Amino acid sequence: MTKPVIEVESLAKSFGDNHVLKDITEKVEPGQVIVVIGPSGGGKSTFLRCLNLLETPTSGKVAFEGQDLTSLDSKSVDSLREKMGMVFQSFNLFPNMTVLENIKLAPMKVKGVADAEATKTAHELLQRVGLEDHAEAFPASLSGGQAQRVAIARALAMNPEVMLFDEPTSALDPEMVGEVLNVMQELAQEGMTMVVVTHEMGFAKEVADRVWFMADGYIQENNTPDEFFNHPQTERAKDFLSKII
Ligand code: ADP
Ligand code: MG
Repeated sequence: MTKPVIEVESLAKSFGDNHVLKDITEKVEPGQVIVVIGPSGGGKSTFLRCLNLLETPTSGKVAFEGQDLTSLDSKSVDSLREKMGMVFQSFNLFPNMTVLENIKLAPMKVKGVADAEATKTAHELLQRVGLEDHAEAFPASLSGGQAQRVAIARALAMNPEVMLFDEPTSALDPEMVGEVLNVMQELAQEGMTMVVVTHEMGFAKEVADRVWFMADGYIQENNTPDEFFNHPQTERAKDFLSKII
């Protein structure tokens, strides 16, 4: 049996009296694509941020490849965090660096990869996301869809074991959503383990292995996309789906 990539046990997270995550126990297996959906304010971003300890859980456990992150010192957490790539709604590219420099920065600074190797990898990644002609461009000259594809390439440059996406297409003009989802779909087909928070139900139906429906601090349903969309079990999910479809 292979180890789960991520294991969450009785995870809870509160901000003061706001009990955002109440009790979450789930696993992500190698190569799985999990799509997390649910109402706004339901704790999806908080959950993703707990997976790589950008937020400290109030209680419960988060394990990465069998190692309990909540019991590690900050240096060990940093080195495990490098194995989790994260892509946000806002691309967060460094505006004063070229696309190539953006992608090379973390591998060189954090991992000590040599310049020539980092450059070679960055070019390969740019080719993979369809932006090899934009290596010397600055972020301000890119469209939103291009910038998000650079952000994905930059996360991949650290050679992560898992990619976490938090609404990667929500800030994009509609005509640019497809180009980003296509890159993500290819990544999934290549076997990348992914946890994706998105409102793109088409992506969930086509690409997800499992849909986790999150609301009111719990994963209310964990099912195949087919079962979830055609036979939602809870009133909460039925209500949510009736509003978005
Ligand atoms: P979602 O991503 O599903 O929209 P979030 O995880 O962003 O939900 O937010 C869930 C709840 O947690 C919201 O009520 C939000 O205001 C609160 N919250 C999120 N981050 C913080 C924070 N850093 N400090 C205080 N409250 C927060
Ligand atoms: Mg969010």
